[in-house]
Amino acid sequence: MSEKRYAIAIDGPSGAGKSTLARAAAKALGILYVDTGAIYRTVGLCVRQRGVEPADQPAVEALLRNIHIEMCYGEDGLQRMFLCGTDVTDAIRLPEVSVLASKVSAIPSVRDFLLEMQRDMARRQSVIMDGRDIGTVVLPEAEVKIYLTASPEDRARRRYLELQRRGTPQDFDQLLREIEERDLRDKNRSVSPLRPAEDAIILDTTGNTFEQSLTLLLKTVRERL
Ligand code: C5P
Repeated sequence: MSEKRYAIAIDGPSGAGKSTLARAAAKALGILYVDTGAIYRTVGLCVRQRGVEPADQPAVEALLRNIHIEMCYGEDGLQRMFLCGTDVTDAIRLPEVSVLASKVSAIPSVRDFLLEMQRDMARRQSVIMDGRDIGTVVLPEAEVKIYLTASPEDRARRRYLELQRRGTPQDFDQLLREIEERDLRDKNRSVSPLRPAEDAIILDTTGNTFEQSLTLLLKTVRERL
């Protein structure tokens, strides 16, 4: 792979396997993986901890002025999130935080507030960054843009198995409903809606095993680079 710094943007709906695939691809390519959903989740968690209504835009904005969010990488190379000095890496994965993250992420000032943090990561080193608007807004100059998707049922099934593995099982139908609601909210918000960039390559992983999807992703990236 060339020495030149480059960026790979991966966008797509929840549960399409973006983070697992991007993390594995980053390892294979020897570059940094940046999970931008974790940043929105940290704001979502903060809203929950402080008892702020996520739809109350002025209250969320006031909150943002008083908090400190940090993204660090541990010795294991994994991304960790800190909220006002506390490690919240595990807490932000709770299902209720997913919903709050999706709600606060529809507020334009929240997106603006987090934009620089995301761009700064890509200025420093080669990255593979996943989210909803990486190819369209955060890194429009990214060398490779991928829109990763899968059917809602497939995505709900993956989330179901993941939560079961973590020991926090949830009802499948409820997960499917939540995924569909989140898709709707992420696609229809007025600011940075979820959509493929015009020059994005669309990869549909429905029915694929993880290895099949990773092979497809790496092949696509290598062809583009
Ligand atoms: O990717 P993840 O499920 O962790 O993201 C949580 C929520 O954060 C998403 O449902 C989406 O609403 C929001 N998000 C976003 N833009 C990003 C990353 C995440 O709006 N770049």
